[in-house]
Amino acid sequence: MSHPLCTFEHMFVEELEAAVADVRRLLGSQHLESMGGDEARRVAGLFADLERLGASGVALMAPRVVAAGSYAKSGHGTPAEWLGSIAGTSPSAARRCLKTATAAGESPLMRKALRRGEMSLAQLEVVASAAGAAPGAAEELLPLVGRVSLRELSDEAARLRAAARSKEDERARRARVHRFRHLSWHQDPSGGVKGEFSCDEVAWARVAPGIERRAAQLQRQARRAGSAESFGAHRLDAFLEILGGKGSGTARPHTLLVIDAESLRRGEIGRGERCAIDGIGPVSVEAATELIGEGSLQILVRDGVDIRTVTNTTRVIPQRVAMALVVRDRVCAVPGCGEVTGLQADHCDVDYGKGGPTELDNLARLCVPHHDLKTHGGWKLKGGPGRWEWVAPARPKSAGYIARARRLAAIKGKAQRSGP
Ligand SMILES: [Zn+2]
Repeated sequence: MSHPLCTFEHMFVEELEAAVADVRRLLGSQHLESMGGDEARRVAGLFADLERLGASGVALMAPRVVAAGSYAKSGHGTPAEWLGSIAGTSPSAARRCLKTATAAGESPLMRKALRRGEMSLAQLEVVASAAGAAPGAAEELLPLVGRVSLRELSDEAARLRAAARSKEDERARRARVHRFRHLSWHQDPSGGVKGEFSCDEVAWARVAPGIERRAAQLQRQARRAGSAESFGAHRLDAFLEILGGKGSGTARPHTLLVIDAESLRRGEIGRGERCAIDGIGPVSVEAATELIGEGSLQILVRDGVDIRTVTNTTRVIPQRVAMALVVRDRVCAVPGCGEVTGLQADHCDVDYGKGGPTELDNLARLCVPHHDLKTHGGWKLKGGPGRWEWVAPARPKSAGYIARARRLAAIKGKAQRSGP
């Protein structure tokens, strides 16, 4: 005996069922098989929209199902088991999703955002969990959804969380991280070795710059030789090399700390301020001060958007522009990319003949694939810091074309270097 639905509820369900049937019919269509690359890209974009709509709908409805206990009516023992079974996910993923949906349901602002259907489940998770830990986080993060990459959204959430932690919370958190520090590895089914570790962010800040710098060197060498291996592969090579003692002998690279003048004065991070180790993420002022006085730390003090002071505890002269660029373009300058590794400084489109500035405003950091699109595919970076635009050429090229152009350029470069 099914419960009789009110008329409007009944109509709503029927309408949604019809829409889903339409999508299912389109998905089954023969036309999908024969679609050209450009149309396929548009279709994939529309299906990605549907996925966000679906994630939002589930997040809006799931807490109601849980509150009413109606999951038991379909024979499911727990809310997570029910959600896992309709979504086809693991119980732990379903539990995470339920937690997110419940947190989102408690904020009117987030409920409104869900009704717009613009958030993926991953974005929703970032915003909802930050909103639970830092008051006002939803107001700050929601406008960023869809405008920045997931990585940048997570970074901003981490910054807000760090700023919301009291000194006591922060000490307890670091003590916990330290207590659970570990390094483990095992042989995986391929016969190779897989590992993971967890450690205090300050401890890692002491070694990470050396690994990143060596990895970038190795990648440059490999690319000159025509290899397209990932940055992660080169990072592992660098890691093993340094562990094996081969990397020593070169000057130790700098750990870069970026801190707002106000935070430094106060000893705590205030609203909208930043205290972060480049390449690692936000840290407390207390954690940051542990590094001060170490030979290889560079501290960049920001006052608003200006970079006031570059202090350096070694006698090496700081490269102000290069450092300021690293701080400003923490991620690839192409809007929405979010890549943080292997970034290369690049000149933007300013006419030097007309006395264009050779300073910071004229430089941007790009990830390797976007750098390739710009160098070999005719794409342009226009605008300026904070308002970059990624402008397509009249006839955008395929990935295969770009890869061939890059290989050709590498061969030409090699011939020139070894030429007469
Ligand atoms: Zn990029």
